[in-house]
Amino acid sequence: MSDRPVVTRIAPSPTGSMHIGTARTALFNWLYARHTGGKYLIRVEDTDRERSTEANVQVIFDGMKWLGLEADETPLFQAARVDRHRVAVDEMLARGSAYRDYMTPDELEAERTLARTEGRVVRSPWRNHSPNDAPDRPFVVRLKAPTEGQTLIDDQVKGPVRFQNCDLDDLILLRTDGTPTYNLAVVVDDHEMGVTHVIRGDDHLNNAARQTLIYEGLGWTPPVWAHLPLIHGPDGTKLSKRHGAQAVGEFADMGYLPEAMRNYLAKLGWGHGDDEIFSDEQAIAWFDIKDVVGAPARLDWAKLNHLNNHYIRQADPDRLVRLVTDILKSRDIQLQDGDAAVLSRTIPLVRDGAKTLLELADATVFALKKRPLELLEKALALLSDETRGRLARLRDAYAAEPDWTVPGLEALNRRFAENEGVGIGKFGPALRACLSGGSPAPDLAGALVALGKQESLGRLDDALSLVR
Ligand code: GLU
Repeated sequence: MSDRPVVTRIAPSPTGSMHIGTARTALFNWLYARHTGGKYLIRVEDTDRERSTEANVQVIFDGMKWLGLEADETPLFQAARVDRHRVAVDEMLARGSAYRDYMTPDELEAERTLARTEGRVVRSPWRNHSPNDAPDRPFVVRLKAPTEGQTLIDDQVKGPVRFQNCDLDDLILLRTDGTPTYNLAVVVDDHEMGVTHVIRGDDHLNNAARQTLIYEGLGWTPPVWAHLPLIHGPDGTKLSKRHGAQAVGEFADMGYLPEAMRNYLAKLGWGHGDDEIFSDEQAIAWFDIKDVVGAPARLDWAKLNHLNNHYIRQADPDRLVRLVTDILKSRDIQLQDGDAAVLSRTIPLVRDGAKTLLELADATVFALKKRPLELLEKALALLSDETRGRLARLRDAYAAEPDWTVPGLEALNRRFAENEGVGIGKFGPALRACLSGGSPAPDLAGALVALGKQESLGRLDDALSLVR
């Protein structure tokens, strides 16, 4: 196995949302494949025909795309592979590692009761029948599992985990209607996809034992197993709705950047020393399944926000303009000619304080307002006669200012305050209110630069001409 190129996969069930646990599993599979120069695949486990709608499948693909974790090959659909699953069962029947079980529902019930009183797992008498003994009635196909010894899962995260074979019943491979069961489908698909490493949530650890027995029944080599601990909420309990967002789509809607999510999810259960912030390239170079921590990881919003702020500050400004434009559009704020330029000027001045893209969008709203601004009561109250007179003089100073930059305007504001013999606090709040209409805005010089000279003077003129 070790000399085969690594193939990993994520096998999501399309349930309607994409849980961040699935996203983290996908990321670890992706990182491990990239780290080893192998392949990373997606298989959609869509055998639950009711839940597996096209829309639900699309949610998964959209989530993977947004996260930048698209598969290296066209995704496979489990439900379309039923014939392959049946062929595998035929092989097992031929090899004698599976058998047809003709127990009637009543017989099964009686065996269940007996097994319970005897403290053992259910065993069908058909296990020991000759395959030629084939009555004409419905049957299931069961795995002929070993009844003695142990099944060892040498898990890369959990360490060796042993299952007593006497505790594992002969699991059903094909139901009476001929449909394959989950564990069978997973084994056949993983084998035929060439999967070498199964990295998934530890809620599947028990399945690993059962699946190993199916591999053995088929004469196939099981993959390397790595079962990841769950993600918990900040309080250490299983992540649930009351902890807030759980679905990848929700994180996207809340204004987290995919690269921040990748960095954050990588840190959930894995890490490289004390490094908090690292690039995809670094994560790929450093990642090894063996370094995944066995204890559940806790979601930490403060850390996620910190990372997101970092990536917002790093992001290409044009990309931020596009992302903010989308958010504003979703709020029915129609952008007009010239607004893209306003955003380009404003975003660099406000992004340092933004933890999410929503906050970034909020911080640009003041600059997009159209004249004349509606001044809020609070803003109007700041415009005393004295302050109006001062702002009128300041307006003339601005009009004459050739250096419309943050340092240039900061210097001007300081000079002006000195000349007037007052502190900036005497007119700053009123000026801000005139420029922003009471919306959140950056510092004075930042707001002036974001608006540009003409717009700034226009807004000041509007406010000063207001009759009280
Ligand atoms: N479809 C399973 C799930 O969504 C994953 C099974 C597996 O990875 O083997 O939990």
